[in-house]
Amino acid sequence: MPAPPVPVEQMDTTRLGYLSVRNVEKVYDPGGVNVHALEKCSLEIPAGDFIAVVGPSGCGKSTLLNILAGFDTLTRGEVFLDNELLAATDKSPTPGSDRVVVFQNGALFPWKTVLQNVVYGLVVQNRMSESEANERGMDLLARTGNLDRIAQAFPNQLSSGMQRRVEILRALINNPRILLLDEPFRAMDTVSKTTMHQHLLDIYDQYHKTVFFITHDLEEAIFLADTVVVMTTRPGTIKLRLEVDLPRPRNRDTITSQHFLELKQQAVTAVHEEAKKAFERGERELA
Ligand code: ADP
Repeated sequence: MPAPPVPVEQMDTTRLGYLSVRNVEKVYDPGGVNVHALEKCSLEIPAGDFIAVVGPSGCGKSTLLNILAGFDTLTRGEVFLDNELLAATDKSPTPGSDRVVVFQNGALFPWKTVLQNVVYGLVVQNRMSESEANERGMDLLARTGNLDRIAQAFPNQLSSGMQRRVEILRALINNPRILLLDEPFRAMDTVSKTTMHQHLLDIYDQYHKTVFFITHDLEEAIFLADTVVVMTTRPGTIKLRLEVDLPRPRNRDTITSQHFLELKQQAVTAVHEEAKKAFERGERELA
């Protein structure tokens, strides 16, 4: 049985969550047709860093996330988490509560309340009694934007932004070493997205988890992250690692600063080069 999680107020804010992706390759083989999704993909993510991953559609971002989450195998290479082997060719993929994923389409149980959703993992894995889990859940909700006020609401009574916040807390209650976010705000309008960015940064400042965040939105990537990683077109590898040396806490003035615009320009150039290659390849493949 996994060790019981520590109380919310003692949740690990020390620097765990150092991720090392070494020469990862992924070949899918649907019906004998090789799809080379990742190649020589190497990435060091220091513990507690916020990494945003951008790149053209189909470049292998979700493939990499699935490997990190333990949802899929890799073909070659290795992944280490805090120097422990997490994924390798001869190792079966294993999801774990130390790496939790939040998806863009959401995955709250509609028939459960916010609190029941947040504590679901703890209860189902028998990591603590239901009453202990509820206490912990209420504590986490209260500490994060006073969300204890919606503990008894059902997901369909909440805005999509609020649902996404609850999902992030449901991930966080496991005290993971890494939060894996796959375009969590993609379907949102600009105003809701802006609000969500602030909530996510508040959570990040509070708990200092390593965050691996996939997005198409370059402004979002730069506004949130310590490092923006631009991937090449398929087979995906790392094209550019952009250190975002903008001070924290960040606010709306951040995105109007000259330095923000310079960083954005570098990212735009790199992504466009790759998108152009992907487009040209598509044209060739269709010809
Ligand atoms: P991204 O997240 O960057 O849009 P993906 O990781 O989803 O890219 O996909 C990378 C490539 O691998 C794409 O060409 C996609 O079609 C292919 N791919 C993804 N999953 C599978 C799968 N299960 N079987 C075959 N090909 C896949």
